[in-house]
This record gives sequence, structure tokens and C-alpha cells, in this order.
Amino acid sequence: MQKYQNSWNGTGTRPILSGMTIPELEEALAGTPGKAPYRARQIFSRISGGACSFEEMTNLPLPLRKELAEQFRIRGIGAVEKQEDRDGTVKLRLGLPGGAAVETVLLSSGPGERLTACLSTQAGCPVACVFCKTGNTGFLRNLEAWEIVEQVLVLSGLVRGRGKQISHIVVMGMGEPLLNLPALRKALEILCDPRGLGFSKRKITVSTSGIYRSILDMAENGPRTELALSITTAREELRRRLMPGSAKNPLDRIKEALKVYQEKQKRRITLETVLLGGINTTEADARALAHFARGLYTLVNLIPWNPVAELRFDNKPLRKPPAEETGRFRRMLEDLGLEVSIRYRRGRGVCGACGQLGTAPVQGDDAAVAALPLLSYRSTTDSGSQPQ
Ligand code: SAH
Ligand code: SF4
Repeated sequence: MQKYQNSWNGTGTRPILSGMTIPELEEALAGTPGKAPYRARQIFSRISGGACSFEEMTNLPLPLRKELAEQFRIRGIGAVEKQEDRDGTVKLRLGLPGGAAVETVLLSSGPGERLTACLSTQAGCPVACVFCKTGNTGFLRNLEAWEIVEQVLVLSGLVRGRGKQISHIVVMGMGEPLLNLPALRKALEILCDPRGLGFSKRKITVSTSGIYRSILDMAENGPRTELALSITTAREELRRRLMPGSAKNPLDRIKEALKVYQEKQKRRITLETVLLGGINTTEADARALAHFARGLYTLVNLIPWNPVAELRFDNKPLRKPPAEETGRFRRMLEDLGLEVSIRYRRGRGVCGACGQLGTAPVQGDDAAVAALPLLSYRSTTDSGSQPQ
């Protein structure tokens, strides 16, 4: 049997199956008595369907299940901590091997409406945007493909009991996804496989601070998902100060890459603009944004800044723009011919809104937090007889 080694914890640990594609599962199972290519497909579809232990895979012969339990683990995520907001947003804090933790969020657009998983791709973020909680917590490491896939598996498990399904994915959680493109690509390949969860690429949005080489790579090699650029401002100087890690990715290069992407994918690109009161809502910002958008098919999405108490810029605390400032900026953009929307914010009560991930929630008037310290815990020790 093929021995796999997970890069995070060295040798001797049973490999995790949740982050394997079907061909990888076939390879991993090679040599297992009773294996056949269709077994890999069966196992893949059971894992995608939420199976957490081999005992549940009753469609497999008992000796094979026993053998698999000795050789593999299905999932690797450890502790799960859950918080639920009044508006239906659920935030999970997931314990990862090596002591890292990331957050993943389930957004619901209202009763009976669509469910969206908001995924993290890195523990921390090296882009270090001044307005973002994640960017201010430092950068620990890239997530492995299985650590991205399992966010969907865990969130799906929460809603399955209620007869619901997650239909959309936004890669807008912790981290810069395009600095971890190989793992993201593999995770999305697994999540989009019709023999598993079968997500549609059109219902997946990857949000990036603008890593132009990775945008070109996506245009060439996929995944061709919906794309959102977190532009913040199109005034280069100000952008570099607000998003220090973006310096290697100048706006003209980003725009060229977006054109190539759009040429192939033929879909609208979202320009996300977090609105920082008194900083990036001037007429100069509106004009620069309109200039950037020229020649692209775009929607400008304004996101009034979600407060994170300790964050500052130019030695002053950041502030959310008042509604009049947001409205004025919106009108300026529309007068310049841009299509604009304002993002309805959800999850603020659990600090699960954009840019708030990594924050300890503050119990306040709009924070209906049901914090369950340890919802479940699976040991990551290596005993074959333990539940997976
Ligand atoms: N790193 C990726 C994806 C995660 S951030 C990116 O930057 O695109 C997702 C979005 O949240 C980005 O558009 C970012 O500008 C926005 N954001 C960050 N901090 C925010 C905050 N405090 N309030 C509102 N939006 C914020
Ligand atoms: Fe990283 Fe995005 Fe936060 Fe910037 S906004 S620090 S790119 S997660």
C-alpha cells in the first residue's frame, strides 16, 4: 500500500483521505486487499457525503473497512468551536495540526434561501492589510488541500441534519487564496467533482488581493471560478500603504491579468472596495476606480468597514463611514458609469463578517453569541481503533 506523508506532521501518521482526488485515492489504495478502482469512487463519495468513520461505509466489505481504518484517517481536523449569530451566520473555529487554527463561516441569505460557505486558505495572511483582523495576526502557514475541503465537510454536516445543502462557496475567509493556489486548486477539484459534492464553478467566488501571476495561472490552468479583486482603492500609493503586501503586484499588471482571465472566463469580475471612513471615499478614489475598471466588465461591491477595535492607520483609529459617506461615494461611482452594489453584512455578532476573522467576539448589544467552547473533539493520535 502506498505510504503517504502529510507535510505538517512527519512520518508515521495515517494519511488523511479527505484531501485526495479519486486518482490519488486509487493510488493510495493500490495494494489493499479487495481494492478495485470503483472502491476509490465509493470511498470518495461517502467522504463527500459526510462519512466520518470507515464503519459507516457499509457498502464496503468488513475486512476492507478494517484494513482502511488501520491504514488511513478520513479527516484530520481536531477541535471545533461553534458560534452562532442571530442572523443565522455560523462561525466555526477549527483546530489544525501543529497548533494552527482557522475560522470558517456559514452564511445564510435568509430563511429557506441559499447557504454559502466562506473558506479560509491560510492561517493568518502575509498581505497584512491594515484594515483586516486576519492581516494583523501575522502569517503562520498555508493550509493543505484537505484542510480547505474539510471546512466544507464540517459546515455541510451542520446543515445536513436540517435537510439543507450548501450551494455556494466564497473563498473570502482567512488568508490570500492565490498565494496558496496549488492547494486551493486541488480542494476545488475535489469539491466540484460530480461524484462527490459536485459544486458548480459558477457558484464559487475566489477573492484575491491581486496576485497577478496566479490570476494568469488560473486563466491558463483553472479553476475558472468567479473572481473578485479586493481593490480597496485604485490610487496605487494609498493602496500600498493600506495593503503593504500588495507592493509586488502593481495595479497595471493586475489589470492585464484580469483581462486575460475575463477573456477566457467571460464573466463579470467583482471589484471589492472596503470603505474606510475619510480614507478611500474621495472623488480621487472614485475617478481612479473608474479608470481601473475601463476595459473590464465589472461590478463594484462596496463593503462598509466592519469594525475591529484595535486597528489604526496613520496613527488614527479606523472608522466605519457614516451612511451618507457611503451613499455619496456610491453616487460618484455611478455617475462615472460604474455598476455598484453594497454588501449586506452578516455575521457581525460573531465577528464572522469580512475582515473580522481571528477576532474574539465581544459580547455587545448586537452580539447574540452562543459560544460552545468545544462542540466536538477528535484526538489526532494515531490509534487505528479510534473513531475518525
Ligand atoms: N485575502 C482575500 C480574501 C479574504 S478578505 C482578499 O483580500 O480578497 C475578503 C474581503 O474582506 C476583502 O475584499 C477585504 O478587502 C475585505 N475586508 C478585510 N477587512 C475588512 C473589514 N474589517 N471590514 C470589511 N471588509 C474587510
Ligand atoms: Fe489578507 Fe485579504 Fe485580510 Fe488583506 S484583506 S490581510 S489579503 S485576508
